[in-house]
Amino acid sequence: MTVQSIHQVSEAVGQYYDHMHAFFTTLWGGSIHVGLWPTVTGTGNHDVAQDRLTDMAIRLLNPAAGHTVLDVGCGTGRPALRLAEQTGASVVGVTVSHKQIEHARRLTQQEGLANRVRFEYADALHLPFASETFDAAWALESLLHMPDREQVLHEILRILKPGGTFVLTDVTEEVLLDQSSRQLLYSGFMIESLLTGKEYPGITKKAGFITDQMLDISSSTKETLSCVSTALIEKRHIMVETYGEDFVVAMEQAWPQLAVIQRDYLGYIVLTVHKPTRMEAGS
Ligand code: SAH
Repeated sequence: MTVQSIHQVSEAVGQYYDHMHAFFTTLWGGSIHVGLWPTVTGTGNHDVAQDRLTDMAIRLLNPAAGHTVLDVGCGTGRPALRLAEQTGASVVGVTVSHKQIEHARRLTQQEGLANRVRFEYADALHLPFASETFDAAWALESLLHMPDREQVLHEILRILKPGGTFVLTDVTEEVLLDQSSRQLLYSGFMIESLLTGKEYPGITKKAGFITDQMLDISSSTKETLSCVSTALIEKRHIMVETYGEDFVVAMEQAWPQLAVIQRDYLGYIVLTVHKPTRMEAGS
């Protein structure tokens, strides 16, 4: 892919999130990732389940108070604010959606965390930060939008200090998708590409990271689309007001198919890696 077309993908993803901002904040919950149901209950608030996944990532990242963390693809800002609140770390979140920046900045003010948390428009493929400036980083469900995972992983490795931890969560393709399912995932969620869970540690290793642990939490994430389906029924009128009847009908048609794809083809991993320390790097 050329630099020009990579840039176009990032811009298109930003426009998608600007357009879908109301969709995610109304139907999905405070964050834009799957929920975590460690014991399947089939019920419960999606917001709470999403925070459970965020909390798992916080425990794995475990930054010290005063450390600075980069949030790659920060969404609404809620995970970053939760991270800052729970750990005392400072967080810089980047996204390619202007609406998300506005939303995240508003939340930051509301929570009184502006002294430690800030959000910026930036493309993760060309991070506007000097090398070795962050103590840790995470990317929660954002790499699936990026046209070149290798490049973004190199960027994250570059901005981390030696020894810095990086936690990523991502949807994985556990059963080979056919072309029409792939197309549906692209048109519904702008999912650019998916890896299998098994492939992931090889990709981060190739980029220069050392693997600490990989968790396969596929079976604990499968309630998400049914929660969102229920929300779509309950909040249909809001969606129609915002997007119009045709859009909502198209969503209602696509949704059952997306739920089947999630159930039968997709998985979910949480991978913890770190940048080699100076000793590990042998320098
Ligand atoms: N991490 C958040 C949001 C996940 S949604 C959460 O867990 O709630 C995916 C996010 O990745 C969006 O904020 C989107 O704008 C961001 N994103 C996608 N491609 C990006 C890119 N090239 N550079 C920066 N952010 C990107």
